[in-house]
Amino acid sequence: MTKTELNKYREILETKQAELAQVLRNRDGITIEKSPDALDEVQNAAERELAIRNLDRESNLLRNVRAALARIEDGSFGICMHCEEDISPKRLNAVPWAPYCIACQEIADRNQEEGNDSLDDLLVNAA
Ligand SMILES: [Zn+2]
Repeated sequence: MTKTELNKYREILETKQAELAQVLRNRDGITIEKSPDALDEVQNAAERELAIRNLDRESNLLRNVRAALARIEDGSFGICMHCEEDISPKRLNAVPWAPYCIACQEIADRNQEEGNDSLDDLLVNAA
């Protein structure tokens, strides 16, 4: 990958990082509203759960974005962390923080759906 390309991705990732950090900061105080109405209670609980799930997803994303920025620094950006093949430019354009190539990502997704831990844990356990 050329320096220009790396700079382009770094810029995208830094913007994304700032954006996510901002969102997560604003969510810091998920307020727990107390209501005497039982139906409201249920609704609030559902909303809270949704908010927490979004928060989870966003902190995961932020972790991936930060990891990708670290990979730009250490020169391993754009290389699949599992099979060490180049990640296709098309995929990097769509998901600049992708740690895996498509094939490995699919394995990771499948494992996640089955309730297993991340691919990394799986690989550690397999070793
Ligand atoms: Zn791979």
